[in-house]
Amino acid sequence: MPTYEKILLKNMEMPGYTGLLADYERVGGYQALRKVLGKIAPADVTAMVTKSGLRGRGGAGFPTGVKWGFLPKDYTGPKYLCCNADESEPGTFKDRQLIERDPHQMLEGIAIACYAIGAETAYIYIRGEFSLGARILERALAEARAAGYVGTNVLRTGVNIDIWLHRGAGAYICGEETALLESLEGKRGLPRVKPPFPATHGLYSKPTVVNNVETLANLPYIVNRGPEWFASIGSPPKSTGTRVFCVSGHIKRPGNYEVPMGITFRELIFEHAGGMRSQKPLKAIIPGGASAAFFTPQHLDVKLDFESVAQAGSMLGSGGVTVMEEGTSMVWAALRLMEFFYHESCGKCSPCREGSSWLVQTLRRIINRRGRMEDLETLTDLCKNIAGRTVCAFGDAEIAPVLSTLQYWRDEYEELIRAAEPSGAAELVMPARH
Ligand code: SF4
Repeated sequence: MPTYEKILLKNMEMPGYTGLLADYERVGGYQALRKVLGKIAPADVTAMVTKSGLRGRGGAGFPTGVKWGFLPKDYTGPKYLCCNADESEPGTFKDRQLIERDPHQMLEGIAIACYAIGAETAYIYIRGEFSLGARILERALAEARAAGYVGTNVLRTGVNIDIWLHRGAGAYICGEETALLESLEGKRGLPRVKPPFPATHGLYSKPTVVNNVETLANLPYIVNRGPEWFASIGSPPKSTGTRVFCVSGHIKRPGNYEVPMGITFRELIFEHAGGMRSQKPLKAIIPGGASAAFFTPQHLDVKLDFESVAQAGSMLGSGGVTVMEEGTSMVWAALRLMEFFYHESCGKCSPCREGSSWLVQTLRRIINRRGRMEDLETLTDLCKNIAGRTVCAFGDAEIAPVLSTLQYWRDEYEELIRAAEPSGAAELVMPARH
């Protein structure tokens, strides 16, 4: 099995590494912050990150340095950095490990990002269910404050960087950056209509950057080892660096694997994750979290980088790779994911709120052997009427499992419909939202 240098999981895999400040400092922690504060101009730090090619690891994959560059240059009022730690995409669990096992890595990244964009305040918006992670982060923040890495006059450079932890209340939609900002402001977490974008009107209507945990954790290494080093890893020029892929499902060794972007699904699944857990062959792959269109065994040689996965018809998304074995019902898989999206739809816009309900009802009817062939056209039609017509990207995300399973496993839908009970098609029943 090929082995690769790890960046983000390296410290935590050292024997005895606790993630406490003393351990992090022992492996060079906070040297990058010392290197930039007052010594490298903030604009040059941004240029460094742009040059590295680092792209957001939360889902959208937007170039990080470019995002920072959208903040107004001549603005003298408060700016904010928000660390999106609201990881809740089904099949994705990497940020949780980064937070729990090496919290200072992320805190140092936040401090570097604050310095680069001129923000004196950062908020970590952590998923409500991550109570252990929240406790660990509070302890790490206290250590960083006591050591002078966070707070007023950081490392006696005259730079102020304060970091606060905010626990969410368990809504998936608060991982969407504008819903996260609304929630941070104390309101119900509903996505905002864009434009204006957070770069100009973010938290409290001030210029704001929202970056994911894994994205920020890469920053100390880009500073320490240089943007050229980072840009040489992975699939340059557009997918640089490593990625922590969360592999789950019917495989032998589920877990987080940090590999350079650009290795194939075949290598990730069959070499790093040990292959299928039973003798049954692979049937389906969700390549980038539950919002990504399904892949088939024909996609095993697609490279795990942003462009290759997009060209093959899906997205790298949050890095959650879910593997399913032969014998798994793809209609059932689509229904389970659709039930999740229906439950998590914030309800702000009709196509998503109502469409997700109709999709669940129709899928349930088919799986309960009460469907009819026209239901397949209804499913497609519903998806078309959600796509591109919603306030946030959730609408496009929720239809991906339905459309892709219809594309690759339509025969399974038809088989269930042909096996419908003689009593005929059932009326659609509105599912309960809990
Ligand atoms: Fe809310 Fe769905 Fe509309 Fe997004 S697409 S704003 S989640 S109702």
